[in-house]
Amino acid sequence: MRALLAGNWKMNGLKTSLGEIRAMARAFADDPPTGDVLICPPATLIGEAVRAADGSVIAIGAQDCHALPAGAFTGDISAEMLRDSGATAVIVGHSERRQYHGESDQTVAAKATAARRASLLVIICVGETESERAAGRATDIVTAQLRDSIPTAIKGSQTAVAYEPVWAIGTGRTPTTAEIHEMHKAIRQALQARHGVEAAEIRILYGGSVKPENAAEILALPNVDGALIGGASLKAADFLRIARSAPRR
Ligand code: PEP
Repeated sequence: MRALLAGNWKMNGLKTSLGEIRAMARAFADDPPTGDVLICPPATLIGEAVRAADGSVIAIGAQDCHALPAGAFTGDISAEMLRDSGATAVIVGHSERRQYHGESDQTVAAKATAARRASLLVIICVGETESERAAGRATDIVTAQLRDSIPTAIKGSQTAVAYEPVWAIGTGRTPTTAEIHEMHKAIRQALQARHGVEAAEIRILYGGSVKPENAAEILALPNVDGALIGGASLKAADFLRIARSAPRR
C-alpha cells in the first residue's frame, strides 16, 4: 500500500501561499515521491490550488464538508461542491472540528458518508486527549471513535483513518514510537473486526507534530501508512523533507 502524505493547512494560507504548492509540484516533477501526496488548503484556495497543482502528482483536498449535498446551511460547503471545485479528498472529524464546532462521532460518520457519495477520499480523524491517555483509556477512546465515526459501508481504498492524539497536535510533542506502534496495531485490528476485507486497504495515518526530524522514524513503523501533517505542511521545504522520508511499500 502506497503511503499517503497529507498536509492540513487549517485556517492558514492566502493566494501568496500557492507558491508553496508550485514549489512542491516542481520538486516532485524532478524527483517523484514514493507515496501519494495531498494538500488540504482552506476552502477559499481549493480552486486555485487545483490549478497550481495541475499536471503534478499533488492532489488537493478539503478540511471539512457538510453531510448534505445542498440546502439552507449558511456558510457550509457540501462534499459535492468540493468535488466540483476540483478537490479529490476531504478530512472529517479533525479534533479542532470536534472541539470548536461540537462535532460528535455521529456527525463525523454522516460527513464521511457524504464524502463517499461525492467520490472523495475521506480521512477520518480520531485521537485521545492527554487526560484520557493518562487515565489509561487511549485505546478504548480511539476504538469507540472508530466504531461510531466510520460508516459501516465504506470502500477501503477511498478511506483513511488519521490517528491524531489531541495533545500532540501543534504542540511539538509526540507519543513514543512504541505508543504509535501499539495504537496503529489496535486500529488495524478494530478495522478488520468491523470492515473485514476492506480494512486491508484503509490507510492509517499518524498525525501530531510530524516534522522533518521525526518523520522517517514514524513512517517506518508497521501499520503507519502515511501522515497527516499540520504546521510542517505550510512550507514546501519541510513538507518535501517529510514526503521524502516515506518508505517505498
Ligand atoms: C493536524 O492538525 O492535523 C496536525 C497534525 O497538526 P500539527 O502537525 O501541526 O501537529
